[in-house]
Amino acid sequence: METQNEIQNDVVITKQNIFDLDYNGWQKWFTDKGVKKFIVKQIFDWIYLKQVYNPLEWTNIAVSTRELVNNYFEYKLPEIVYSAVASDYTIKFLIKLADGKTIESVAIPSKKRMTLCLSSQVGCAVGCTFCHTATQGFTRNLKVHEVVGQFLVVNKFLQERLDPKTHINHITNIVYMGMGEPLHNFENMKIATLIFIDDQALRIGQRRVTLSTSGMVPQIEKLWDFPPINFTISLHSAIDKTRSTLMPINKVYDVQRLITAIKTIPLKPRRMITFAYTLIDGVNNGEDDLDAIMNLLPKQVSKINLIPYNEFPGSEFKRPSEENISWFYDQLNSNGFQTTIRATRGKDISAACGQLKTIMEKKLH
Ligand code: SAH
Ligand code: SF4
Repeated sequence: METQNEIQNDVVITKQNIFDLDYNGWQKWFTDKGVKKFIVKQIFDWIYLKQVYNPLEWTNIAVSTRELVNNYFEYKLPEIVYSAVASDYTIKFLIKLADGKTIESVAIPSKKRMTLCLSSQVGCAVGCTFCHTATQGFTRNLKVHEVVGQFLVVNKFLQERLDPKTHINHITNIVYMGMGEPLHNFENMKIATLIFIDDQALRIGQRRVTLSTSGMVPQIEKLWDFPPINFTISLHSAIDKTRSTLMPINKVYDVQRLITAIKTIPLKPRRMITFAYTLIDGVNNGEDDLDAIMNLLPKQVSKINLIPYNEFPGSEFKRPSEENISWFYDQLNSNGFQTTIRATRGKDISAACGQLKTIMEKKLH
């Protein structure tokens, strides 16, 4: 194994990962080292366009600069340790990080898209009662290179394994809807997002990246300082009592505080906030629940994404009947709310967030 720390002139240097820095981060690093700033563009071409990660192979860059970068940086990526393809071609990945911890990513194909659902943390501290990831507790935030790394390793897998004639064999869209609460890891997710959307780096359009949050009010109020991607708020109930039973965070930031905070999110023209609403039988799928949503959300700037509950072994909640899901959807739509129903993907490969990690860890130990 390569060592992370190298001793140079008796000084121990902890190597940073090359995927940890966005454009500004590299510029600052080079300025501090007295290297010209224009080098950053060339470096980004090597890393993200040519996918040559070893600084010593960056032939159009001065040898001294190559060596400098090599002395201070490593370029390790996380490793795919398991993948499973579902009958609907959803691909689920278990990814191992340098410290041996594992996370999940999912690649979800549709006609014109290949959406990567990536994780922002190992586990999650929010503790929603219906969520499988919550049962794993919280271990740590992901570093920038572990977030960007999920993209790079899954993209490589898709390029090598998928037939480009029948499948889109590269990632076109990204959603932060895997394990973890992305706004608990604000700074790292911000830098990773800048790398995803940068025209010089991974070139995914701003409108093709979506962050989903359980409703961290102080961080929502800071979203003016986040790149202008799409934001989804996990609402799941517009009634405080019900929302608090599903999401303990509601006891700290209730529905009204959440809505007030959402109003501070700067929205570009014609962009809307999406509200995710996981439909759970007998919990949030009745007439009162509908009325509360309609009274709470402003139709002009809100989209609603209904997610039929994804049951997992041991979950105390149930998915409603198809009739109930259709009824809920029709009511919202006919009352002027732009509503969609999220199809359950990858059912046969335990695609509910967090499930694969638990199953594989039981198998591996
Ligand atoms: N932590 C963030 C993003 C990850 S979860 C958040 O909570 O928003 C992505 C979405 O899936 C959230 O809306 C979450 O509430 C929902 N979800 C989690 N477990 C689910 C399950 N078993 N069935 C349906 N939706 C679920
Ligand atoms: Fe965390 Fe989101 Fe799961 Fe809630 S739903 S426990 S915030 S991952």
